[in-house]
Amino acid sequence: MSFNALVVTKDDEGKTHAGVEQITLDQLPEGDVVVAVEYSTVNYKDGLCIGPGGGLVRNYPHVPGIDFSGTVETSEDDRYKPGDKVVVTGWRMGENRWGGYAQKARVPADFLVPLPEGITTKQAMAVGTAGFTAMLAVMALEDHGLMPGQGPVLVTGAAGGVGSVATAILAHLGYEVAGVTGRPETADYLKSLGATQIVAREEINETVKRPLEAETWAGCIDAVGGAMLARVLGQVKYGGSVAAVGLAGGAGLPATVIPFLLRGVNLLGIDSVMQPYDNRVRAWRRIGSDLPMNKLEEMIQPANLGDLPDLGRAILKGQVKGRVVVDVN
Ligand code: NDP
Repeated sequence: MSFNALVVTKDDEGKTHAGVEQITLDQLPEGDVVVAVEYSTVNYKDGLCIGPGGGLVRNYPHVPGIDFSGTVETSEDDRYKPGDKVVVTGWRMGENRWGGYAQKARVPADFLVPLPEGITTKQAMAVGTAGFTAMLAVMALEDHGLMPGQGPVLVTGAAGGVGSVATAILAHLGYEVAGVTGRPETADYLKSLGATQIVAREEINETVKRPLEAETWAGCIDAVGGAMLARVLGQVKYGGSVAAVGLAGGAGLPATVIPFLLRGVNLLGIDSVMQPYDNRVRAWRRIGSDLPMNKLEEMIQPANLGDLPDLGRAILKGQVKGRVVVDVN
């Protein structure tokens, strides 16, 4: 029995092409559990894997999709049985193995997390890797002492996926949130998620001139990297932390070590892909309790498999607002 998938092929000139095709179960990679996929999403990395690959995809034809949610169809693992609702993010799925842009997926049981109570499969993909990572970043900042009342927390790339979810979670937890955006037209959207201050990208995207500036931010979730991250380090309050999540603005870090040495600033690395199981469960539980689902609904841009080539190009240009939810059926 065949089913739909977004398949990326590579031609003799090395150019990739993405389109919806019919595939069969025996084409799927090895694994213990077959999931009837309901929803997937579009993260920055998906944009790379739908398009030129960005060095992430080795073999073609390829089915991208680093996240999916759905219902277990068959399982050879005791932890899961048919009918269980599950969510998968990361593990290099959709990169070095076929991922969630198909009506069925086969994965090792270790990749799965049971869908937390009170979250639907659709909401889980509105969260996706971007939202899961935002939650990991909030947890890391809290683990390093961040508490409401210490001052504004800066979120960079605020109108993107990570930034939108981070803004909503922080505001719900009682933090004052300042969002950096290069798209002034998203100000009302960011305020509806709970941001109380909007910072224009150009204000903060300049190369560091002074290693220390006024102590402004109690903490930061940074999806941008590059010059912006370097600049933010010099603006964080004494003992505060920055969770480095992304590189939408560049992989470089043209900074000085002065903020670390004179202000005890912490730079915390956040990885969602290889995150151990227990912390995944902890983060998904926190998403269930700390991310207001009405705010999540405001972020959703619905899509289907056929929309993915355009959406992949759009996210690479920083043009996607909030979270795309792909109904694969
Ligand atoms: P999005 O494209 O949805 O968001 C990125 C946002 O960054 C954009 O919406 C834009 O926000 C801003 N931005 C884009 N280009 C630039 C630029 N040149 N300079 C400054 N700001 C820019 O992507 P995601 O939210 O899905 O991912 C964000 C980053 O986090 C990516 O780099 C991604 O690879 C990374 N990531 C890392 C993970 C991890 O495990 N560490 C997991 C998930 C994502 P605005 O318009 O508001 O300025």
